[in-house]
Amino acid sequence: MRDGLGFLAEKYQERYAAKPRGFELYVHRMLQGLTKAFDPEAKIVYVSNYSFPAELLWAFDVVNFDYEIACNNLPQAIMGSGSELMIACEEQGFSRDICSFHRMELGFSAQDANPRGDLYICSSYYCHGKAKAHEAAARREGAPHYFFEAPTRRTESARVYVETQLREIAEILERLTGKQLDMGRFKECIRMSNRARANLVEINELMKLKPCPWEAKKAALLALGGAVFWGSPVLVEVTDRLKEEIQERAASGATRPERFRVLWSPWYPVQPTVIPAFMRDNQISMVMAETADIWRPALDENHPFESLAQMVLDNYMLRTTQERAERLTTLAGEYQVDGLVHFGTVACYHENTAFRVIADAMARQGLPVLDLDGDMTDERNYSEQRTTGKLEAFLEIMAANRSE
Ligand code: SF4
Repeated sequence: MRDGLGFLAEKYQERYAAKPRGFELYVHRMLQGLTKAFDPEAKIVYVSNYSFPAELLWAFDVVNFDYEIACNNLPQAIMGSGSELMIACEEQGFSRDICSFHRMELGFSAQDANPRGDLYICSSYYCHGKAKAHEAAARREGAPHYFFEAPTRRTESARVYVETQLREIAEILERLTGKQLDMGRFKECIRMSNRARANLVEINELMKLKPCPWEAKKAALLALGGAVFWGSPVLVEVTDRLKEEIQERAASGATRPERFRVLWSPWYPVQPTVIPAFMRDNQISMVMAETADIWRPALDENHPFESLAQMVLDNYMLRTTQERAERLTTLAGEYQVDGLVHFGTVACYHENTAFRVIADAMARQGLPVLDLDGDMTDERNYSEQRTTGKLEAFLEIMAANRSE
């Protein structure tokens, strides 16, 4: 893992030097952060950034390591030979039904090729499989793990329950780092978080323009991989630049031609597929992604724990599927899309179950839905012919809807 991440970190450093733009800055800083996890002096905290408030980790001097994002960014995963990294896990008897991200991590863990973790925080959502993979890795290393549980209801008692856990985690981090939580620094992390949020709200507004001046695929990647930077100056700098670049593009008209607009939910495959080329060739813009929607509230720096606890409860993946479906139909209207593309993987049981509710809600709006099943990184579960066939049929339906 170290070599793969190190190799890409160098490549992206060069790419960023040649093209110092917002998205390149994000990838460069994200890879740099992941490679820091191999520093023997660093305190490493394994976490799922999309389901844990990274602001609390930035308030301490720890390296925040998300194996899912690390595995996503390995050369094999992005080049279409991710299964090579899963063999070690499968040979230990783990089933191929397990999500490819977890199989990669379990494979590395079996070979002692993961960075060592000083603490494992396992969130109860979005993905139970990830919590269990974290737990298995923690046990293997004899490291402490904390099961961070977020209830699905948004009541005062639920908020207090989450806040209590965040305060406990802060105490664990104090013991781990030997430093007391500096409330001044914590407040600064909250301010950084709010500034980045405000930028992303503006970026999402710009995406409503026709033609769309940015790609929601990048917005989705930033939302998931960039979640590590909530609370840090990095996300502020990245979103400052992106906002400026998107405004310039919209003003100059240097946008891609656009015949159709689609909304994307929820995941986007890491391995190479025909999807981007098909969309480009047929002038289909992905104008918004569910993951890039700003569901998080602005935080109160004077009550950071309370505010982060509320933010956890507001996470869209803790909502009922019906609420998610309603939000998606609202987004479909606001972004004036011609249809919704849903991408889940075989292992993503919760998402596959949610699909029917989402599809029915879109159908009530008269919008077609494409269910692009596939895999994030296991090329054995991907078929170019099948994916192309589904995309062609979806394109025909969107075109027919237009001419009605
Ligand atoms: S793709 Fe689904 S199963 Fe895999 S890590 Fe993401 S949420 Fe979990």
